[in-house]
Order: sequence, then C-alpha cells, then structure tokens
Amino acid sequence: ERVISSEISNYDEPFEQSLRPQLLKQYIGQDKIKHNLEIFIEAAKMRSESLDHCLLYGPPGLGKTTLASVIANEMDVQIRMTSGPAIERPGDLAAIVSSLEPGDVLFIDEIHRLNRSIEEVLYPAMEDFCLDIVVGKGPAARSVRLDLPPFTLIGATTRAGALSAPLRDRFGVLLRLDYYDEEALTSIVMRSAELFNASIDFESAGEIARRSRGTPRIANRLLKRVRDYAQVRGNGHISLILAREALELLQVDPRGLDHIDHKLLIGMIERFRGGPVGLDTIAASIGEESTTIEDVYEPYLLQIGFIQRSPRGRIVTPLAYEHLGMPLPIERND
Ligand code: ADP
Repeated sequence: ERVISSEISNYDEPFEQSLRPQLLKQYIGQDKIKHNLEIFIEAAKMRSESLDHCLLYGPPGLGKTTLASVIANEMDVQIRMTSGPAIERPGDLAAIVSSLEPGDVLFIDEIHRLNRSIEEVLYPAMEDFCLDIVVGKGPAARSVRLDLPPFTLIGATTRAGALSAPLRDRFGVLLRLDYYDEEALTSIVMRSAELFNASIDFESAGEIARRSRGTPRIANRLLKRVRDYAQVRGNGHISLILAREALELLQVDPRGLDHIDHKLLIGMIERFRGGPVGLDTIAASIGEESTTIEDVYEPYLLQIGFIQRSPRGRIVTPLAYEHLGMPLPIERND
C-alpha cells in the first residue's frame, strides 16, 4: 500500500467523509469548474429544472465524488451513489433510477466500467427520462416503457477516452478536474487540520502540499500521518521540522515521489538509458500492469515533466535526472 496512492482505501473512507466539503464555497481550487457550475446550477434553479447530466473526469483523488455531492447539496436534492462495476444487470439500474425523486442526482463512479447492455438502458433514461424494459420471455415478451422523474446523472471517470462515444455525447456538461497547485493544496491541508483540531503552521502545510502530487486525497492522508508523528515525537504541534522528518520516514521525497516512482525512473535510466521505452516494457520491468502505470504512476510524472511521451515510448527528462542526482548519458544532449 503506497502512502501516496491516490486510490481510496477502506481505512481512509470514514476519515475522508469527515473532510468532504459540502458546498461550492468550501470546495477549494478548480476555479474554472466552480464558476461554470455556479452558473449552470443557478440557471437550472431559476427554471426549476433538473441540472444537465455532468461528466467529471480526471485522476483519482481530485474530488470528483466530493463535487458530485456538492452539486446535489447546491441543487437541494438527494444524491444516490453507485459505480459502474456495481451495476451488473439492467434490472439493477432500473431499480435505482425508478426510485429517484424529481431532480435527484444519480452518481455513477467509474462510469467507463459500465457494461454495454446497461449503457443501452441508460441512453433513453438520460435523454427522455424513460426506461424501456422487456417483460416476459419468448413469444410472450413485450417491451414496456416506464416514465422516470427528471434527474441528473453525474458520471465520474479517470479515463474519459474509455467512455463509449454515444454515452459521452449524452452528457451536457463535461468537466475536467486538474491537479491542484501548491496554494490550493496548502489551503486544503489547513482546512483539514482545522477540522480535526490539529495545530499546524502555514510552512508545514505547504511542505505537505508540495509532496502531495497535486491530489487532495494524498494531502489529507499525509497530514494524518504527520499529525500522528507530531503527537508522538513532539508536543502535537506540526512544525516544519517535524513535518519533514515524518515525510522522510514515509519515504515521500520533496516532490512527492516514493520508492516506486524512484524504482520506475531509475529502472528506465539504468536499463534503457532513459528511454524511449515502451509502456509494456516499463510495466514488465517493475512488475506492474501497463494500465496501472498509465492511470496511476505516470500522470503525475508527466505533469511535473519528469517523463515525456514520444511515439517510440516514454523518455526520462533531464529534470528527473537532476532531481535524482544522476548524470545524463553522454550522448543524450536534449
Ligand atoms: P475522487 O472521487 O476524484 O477520487 P474524492 O471526491 O473522493 O476524489 O476526494 C478525495 C478527498 O479529497 C475527499 O475526501 C475530500 O476530503 C478531499 N477533497 C477533494 N477535493 C477537495 C477540494 N476541492 N477541497 C477540499 N477537499 C477536497
């Protein structure tokens, strides 16, 4: 289990719930998205209509689930939460949508994992707020149309590209969440510290923010670990020195890289002269799935410019060599 994993764990769940912002004004960062949403929400409320279907996409831990419940709160409606893999049969989806109240939000996490037969049921539900259900079997089978209350589907995915085109086209609003900058993450750390009564100064919050890979989930998790450390090793106050010590102990380096990132980068440098190396080769050399590298490890390394994509594979950049304190190969003069 990586401390800096952006995936949620069962252990984190109750803790995360307690830190979730409830309203747009408490939701830190992602300003463009918030401004857009404010207008869409206001307009829908003025017309007394349900909000258009929204697709939220971006790496895990950036606040998609949180934003979905914020939207429901702002619209003053209930939210039903489920996920692509949890809806196994068309009947499961029918049961969920037919229990919605007018205007409710249906949140489907990992919507790219919805199977195609369920997508088919979803199309008329999204477009015309109705369900076409087949009842009976064989020659007696007939299709019945069920009207649904108007509702808002909010889909979340880490890979917008994995969504089928007909499904993607049925969302009126597409919102891409970006990694958070240091300032926004520092505010998130300060806010979370206040929520669980941890004493922290601005510099220490900034230190945690810089090592959080642009991701609120990681920032909160690191804060929690640092707080434990400050309690045991200090007097409970999170000072810069204690924060740094704790983060060293967790093996999270000043840019938020851990031993797995180091292994990946050093492997590419030592075995493949820094690339270009194909994704599958990288995956095999560190014993991971290609999709895990692509979805989990790589996005942040690309974001901070430590690796680059090229048609022939991934390349370790001079910035990463410098960070790792390794010399560039002689014949590479990029
Ligand atoms: P995702 O659904 O994208 O994986 P979540 O919505 O579960 O991410 O967010 C992870 C955690 O990060 C939440 O528990 C929440 O406390 C925190 N968080 C996410 N976005 C924000 C934000 N904009 N402001 C404050 N906290 C946030």
